[in-house]
Amino acid sequence: MNSERPPLQAALLPRLQARRAPESGAEAEGEAGDEALAAHLLIEDAIRARASDIHLDPFQDQWRIRLRIDGRVIDALVLEWGEGLALVNQFKVLAGLDPMPSRVASEGSLSWPAPDEATRESFLRVTAVNCVAGEKLAVRFLAPPRTFHDPLALGVGEQGARGIRRWMDATGGMLLVAGPTGAGKTTTLYTLLHQLRLGDSHVVTLEDPVEYAIPGINQIQVDADNGLDFATGTRSLLRLDPDYVLIGEIRDPGSAAAAVSVAGSGRSLMGTLHSRDAVGVVSALRQLGLVDAEISATLGLVIAQRLVRRLCEHCRERRPTEPQDVEWLEAVALEVPRQAWYPVGCERCDGLGYRERTGVFEIWQPTPHDHALLLKHADDAVLRRALRERGETLMLADGLAKAADGITSLREIYRMGAILPG
Ligand SMILES: [Zn+2]
Repeated sequence: MNSERPPLQAALLPRLQARRAPESGAEAEGEAGDEALAAHLLIEDAIRARASDIHLDPFQDQWRIRLRIDGRVIDALVLEWGEGLALVNQFKVLAGLDPMPSRVASEGSLSWPAPDEATRESFLRVTAVNCVAGEKLAVRFLAPPRTFHDPLALGVGEQGARGIRRWMDATGGMLLVAGPTGAGKTTTLYTLLHQLRLGDSHVVTLEDPVEYAIPGINQIQVDADNGLDFATGTRSLLRLDPDYVLIGEIRDPGSAAAAVSVAGSGRSLMGTLHSRDAVGVVSALRQLGLVDAEISATLGLVIAQRLVRRLCEHCRERRPTEPQDVEWLEAVALEVPRQAWYPVGCERCDGLGYRERTGVFEIWQPTPHDHALLLKHADDAVLRRALRERGETLMLADGLAKAADGITSLREIYRMGAILPG
């Protein structure tokens, strides 16, 4: 399956790897000093490799170190049992965890100083879970979501960016960012917020919880135990006279009702919603108790998205389309290109062939016809067909266009799990 690259990417952890091979020039230090260093080297290597998570997994009589980079878990190094155990214990000490394996999951954290002035210090959350093979450790770098200077930088096309601009310039209605977990919804929303903050508008958020403070924006945290739920929070924030309101994730009837009451009051509302594609927000909102008239009256723009890895520009290669790509394209009756772009791997991308990610989008601005369909309780399939019939670029088409341009590979588009034509 994964024949394109070796299963272990020791190059991702050069410092830890070098320390394990003393002949490479490193002087032997005292035992304790060496051990203290291993966790530090691993953190430094992981930061350099742009990892979001480090996993230390017991595996037979060894330990596997894996890194999550650009959303994918990559096998990096195998350690002897004793070495791995020592590393786990170092992390537990650093994170203030009980060194004894606990019956349930235990969680601690640590901060890591910034390597230079250009970077911020990192916060790491360390979770230890007892598994059958031993204790497993997961280390997550807690980073605020990235923001970009404009939607084009996210990977939204010109036309989509114009739709977003139009919505932002108008007043009232809902803008929803839709997609599964890990699709980059928060980054998109924060990028839009960032633009609003730069403008002369008044922005208030109601979040549960407030995950990241944004300077220049009034953020309110839902606190149901003290009487501040979505309903009461909405009433108080409307008294602040905002132009734009952000409700983090719309995930229950309370937040859905708050969203329509804000959007119905003539303010612009932004939120995220779990849904597979743009028209899928309609059934998601119905499930959260909204009626067709409420949805139709307030739905202004839907941005559905996924994240795919970008091919490394320094080593990507165009060659005849590989059988596994031909197979899936033919299976879904799509045109098979004679040639396609593939990852290779070089020093610039740590041999992965990919570096960073970009968004694949589907932007739906409901037309009067769509609103009429909505009021007739049309389902997702009917709404999707209407979009396709008027030639809108759906997510799969946007992804295939990005693969044809060499921005990403066909494999990444296959993996993103878009709704297929038909
Ligand atoms: Zn490369």
